[in-house]
Amino acid sequence: MSNVATYQLLDGKQCSEAVRADIASQAAVVTAQRGRAPHLAAVLVGNDGASRTYVESKVRACQSVGFRSSLIELPTSTTEAELLDLISSLNRDPELDGFIVQLPLPKHISEEKVTLAIDPRKDVDGFHPESLGRMVLGLPGFLPATPAGIVELLRHYGISTAGKHCVVIGRSNIVGTPMSLLMSRNTEPGNCTVTLAHSRTKDLPAITRQADILIVAIGKPEFVTADMVKDGAVVVDVGIHRITDTTKKSGFRLVGDVHFDDVAAKCSWISPVPGGVGPMTITSLLLNTLKAAERP
Ligand code: NAD
Repeated sequence: MSNVATYQLLDGKQCSEAVRADIASQAAVVTAQRGRAPHLAAVLVGNDGASRTYVESKVRACQSVGFRSSLIELPTSTTEAELLDLISSLNRDPELDGFIVQLPLPKHISEEKVTLAIDPRKDVDGFHPESLGRMVLGLPGFLPATPAGIVELLRHYGISTAGKHCVVIGRSNIVGTPMSLLMSRNTEPGNCTVTLAHSRTKDLPAITRQADILIVAIGKPEFVTADMVKDGAVVVDVGIHRITDTTKKSGFRLVGDVHFDDVAAKCSWISPVPGGVGPMTITSLLLNTLKAAERP
């Protein structure tokens, strides 16, 4: 008998379109009530090509839902003090609901100092310790954009999570660690038994093979292969990498942390790259900005 693939796609583009339609109608209400549209600013320091692409798509997404957006571009030579001054003025700007400082920053600027300098009321990336603390305690606040987008994607496709074993690979502050916490919360999606795997984990494949839900945020192209995945698993791929491909006009193609072609046939659901977690991250940023604008 031939092995017919039966997996379904966790389509972040389609899910984003549905959520963004709701955001646009709520934004219209907020705009009418306050006499101005929700306003997000993005700060980009330096010339990193990938960062520029991400920031520009965030700005475009704002326009698509009726938000105002501002892109503040600074040269690589910007000092830490200059950036902190800018953050202080953005914190005080009454016309601005939220802002992000695109990471990574040039080496001479401390990401920690920058993150701490952002007013938690405008922290729409959800990276400030106050936002993370609120998430841990289940208090209202801004959830980190990528993990929150993944939760929304699971909710949209009706993936049942309660009592499931969720394995998260990667323990970064912005993806893996908050992801593991969100999946273990007493909410739906949530209520998973969570294993957080990282670079010191022993026999990773033996652990990932136990996952009903496998969320991969490791930052290594096509790292997860079929032998690491249980039959019928739900696989969410956070990674995004450009790899050389001479058959493409651009000279590259995008791949995730999961070897999609190898793994997909074993999955019940799998998110593609591109078009999976990426659009959901931007949608979460829009949701956080709307939340900031709705604050009394
Ligand atoms: P990171 O480099 O900060 O963290 C990677 C984690 O993987 C680390 O915690 C490390 O312990 C773990 N790791 C490394 N090697 C390992 C191994 N051999 N076995 C097990 N664990 C190992 O990365 P990040 O910021 O969390 O991002 C992960 C990936 O997701 C990157 O490809 C990044 O570009 C991508 N990303 C995508 C989005 C999106 O919106 N799609 C958002 C953020 C990050």
